[in-house]
Amino acid sequence: MKLLEERIRKDGIIGEGDVLKIGSFLNQQIDVGLVSEMGREFHRLFGDAGVTKILTVEASGIAIACLTAPYFGVPVVFAKKSKTSNIAGNVLCAECFSYTHNCVNNLIVPAEFLSADDKVLIIDDFLANGSAVRALCDLAHQAGAEVVGAGIAVEKAYQAGGKELRGQGLRIESLARIASMSVGKGITFCR
Ligand code: 5GP
Repeated sequence: MKLLEERIRKDGIIGEGDVLKIGSFLNQQIDVGLVSEMGREFHRLFGDAGVTKILTVEASGIAIACLTAPYFGVPVVFAKKSKTSNIAGNVLCAECFSYTHNCVNNLIVPAEFLSADDKVLIIDDFLANGSAVRALCDLAHQAGAEVVGAGIAVEKAYQAGGKELRGQGLRIESLARIASMSVGKGITFCR
């Protein structure tokens, strides 16, 4: 998506640990107009997939999911991150390694919010090694739901997640795919 690539070029900051910072328009301050256009694009890509629910993970996925959901007319469910899987009640829980915080979280969703009738579209801000998308798929599958695919804002295509998950048959649509990224040479996108 040209608009997003241009914005990343203009405002993205390459941080330590192979982390791209886009806090000025997505991860902290939110350019609602841009993110809403991203939602429109996700709908163009997945609009005929019969989506009944959008599933994401707190915190940064929520804004993208909420600006995508109106195009589909479906609710957003977000997984909470917890250090413990020991949560009371009937919950779905999947382990996720946090790329940015370098720790293991449990992603938790109350079981009542996903069911075997659901067709789930996963939405997230970044795809790196695939742990977050894998854990979200796991939550949906625990409920017996079908995952129709994953819509990602920024995929760092030189990292393993996209290739692995596509290899397992998951449809992934990423709006910007970074081919390489370094402080010296900047950012190049996949063509
Ligand atoms: P993965 O689970 O695919 O390894 O990493 C994806 C998750 O880690 C995303 O939910 C995102 O929050 C975070 N993440 C991974 N790479 C980056 C990055 O370059 N920049 C930012 N801001 N977050 C990232």
